[in-house]
Amino acid sequence: MMNDQNSQKNVAKADKQMRDDLTKIEEIKNKVKAFQDKRGWGNESPKDISLSIVLEAAELLEHFQFKSGREVEEEARLFGPICDELSDVLWWIMSMANRLNIDVAQAFERKYKYNEDKYPESIFASTMTDEEKRKKYYKIKAKYRGSHPLADKQDD
Ligand SMILES: [Mg+2]
Repeated sequence: MMNDQNSQKNVAKADKQMRDDLTKIEEIKNKVKAFQDKRGWGNESPKDISLSIVLEAAELLEHFQFKSGREVEEEARLFGPICDELSDVLWWIMSMANRLNIDVAQAFERKYKYNEDKYPESIFASTMTDEEKRKKYYKIKAKYRGSHPLADKQDD
């Protein structure tokens, strides 16, 4: 019980220390690394980290089981648990970034620019219906899934 009280105090304190508009990605990476180092953790293989990202994403998905998206949005009791699972996914993403020395902001920017080219604004007009947008999206997906970067190299 004492641990629960200390834990709740720690959580309440944490709520006041980090915010998106004040926190650098590097700070989160460093926090994850420091936490792991103090416990002798952090030597997981990239395969196990990938697996952990998916496991935590599945825990996030569990909150949506048997409910519509709107029901989940309107259920205030799920907000905290969803935040927790999102944070767990982020934890493992940062762990992977630390393990493979990935600059997350650079990786994001690179993929963002790729997505700008892949899904041009010009073909997703605001006057299109959701169905029309989905059809365009699936067409692009089909076009892009016709190859794999490693297979392309070997085939050249
Ligand atoms: Mg979790």
